[in-house]
Amino acid sequence: MLAPPRSLADVTLQETTISSLEEHSAHNYSPLPVVIAEADDIWVTDIHGTKYLDALSGYSALNFGHRHPTLVNAVRAQLDRVTLTSRAFHHDRFAQFCTDVSRLTGKDAILPMNTGAEAVETAIKAARRWGHQCKGVPVDQGTIIVADNNFHGRTTTIVGFSTDPDSRTGFGPFTPGFRSVPFGDVDRLEALIDDNTIAVLLEPIQGEAGVIIPPAGYLAAVRTLTAKHNVLLIADEIQAGLGRTGATFACDHEAVVPDIFVLGKALGGGILPVSAIAADWDVMEVFTPGSHGSTFGGNPLACAVGSAVVALLETGEYQERSRVLGKYLEEGLRSIESDLLVEIRCIGLWAGVQFAPDVSAKKLCLSMMKKGVLAKDTQQSTVRIAPPLTIRVNEVDLLVTALDAAVKEYVGA
Ligand SMILES: *Cc1c(COP(=O)(O)O)cnc(C)c1O
Repeated sequence: MLAPPRSLADVTLQETTISSLEEHSAHNYSPLPVVIAEADDIWVTDIHGTKYLDALSGYSALNFGHRHPTLVNAVRAQLDRVTLTSRAFHHDRFAQFCTDVSRLTGKDAILPMNTGAEAVETAIKAARRWGHQCKGVPVDQGTIIVADNNFHGRTTTIVGFSTDPDSRTGFGPFTPGFRSVPFGDVDRLEALIDDNTIAVLLEPIQGEAGVIIPPAGYLAAVRTLTAKHNVLLIADEIQAGLGRTGATFACDHEAVVPDIFVLGKALGGGILPVSAIAADWDVMEVFTPGSHGSTFGGNPLACAVGSAVVALLETGEYQERSRVLGKYLEEGLRSIESDLLVEIRCIGLWAGVQFAPDVSAKKLCLSMMKKGVLAKDTQQSTVRIAPPLTIRVNEVDLLVTALDAAVKEYVGA
């Protein structure tokens, strides 16, 4: 049940409280004026006791909802045993976790890290060594092709190949060796491939760009092309993978198997940062002792939750829910009638609802918040909808109704 909508006065009051909360924090985010104190499944409760439907899911980190009992139990049990050993020693959760992720991805070997950006960095390092040692590219000369409007994280190397000025301006000098082409354009991609090209790094569906789904056949064509030119295909499935699109991996929709899967977000079950790359030995063998690592990567707690996440995914239930309820969500969104609406991009329980360029998606999200639904704007005029995959039909209705009402009430800035 949705709580009764609060008055605008309540929200303003809360905004005042919030500005004092930010007194000692860097201003690298601009959050909605809500202070969450508790969460359960798809619902979060703020400090005033108001409940909201979480239609963002921590950018897909919460695919299984908040505090999924199976995942919480796995972490709790592990807390009473051992939480951290460092990789200087073996621990009794590690092999199981790697076996589980190997089975899920169909890849020989796993290298666990913590955040998504670290896993992307790991994939880049793997590709660079592979390019030199296996493909024979002169040392330090390998280039990686990425897509315009990509989002792969926030390290200096990664923002260096971002095309978003907010992400990169002022943070140079940047790591060389990256080239960017329009997402979805196979011909432009092929034209850029030369003898020094070692990898193509893509999000199979671009999340931060606004849930951009490439033209049908694009991923399969990129797979064919990269195989033909002995170039690695690296799929950043950090946001798109692990059930979000109605399949285990977004690449599955085109039966594409990349050389490297990059996983993160939901792999930690919304509890811990857990990321990993998965690849066959011909690639993973480039890592030798001392060549890469992380103090926390693959720790017992992370492995316990990661294994539990794989077990949830192996039931197929979440992919199925995402597929079926995603269709229902899409129908609901398409029933919204408004001249402001430009395009609805939907795959599984993931939607980019794009409005005319002069529409403030942030304003729409604020309005949705007042109606009890938390969603996130992206790219100025796109509302991103990505509820936990545990959402039910009547809750999808609530979500659509809130967006519909926000759109109907919208008055320009
Ligand atoms: C969120 C995200 C990342 C970065 O993950 P962090 O855990 O924030 O470092 C990388 N790639 C994609 C596609 C993402 O959505």
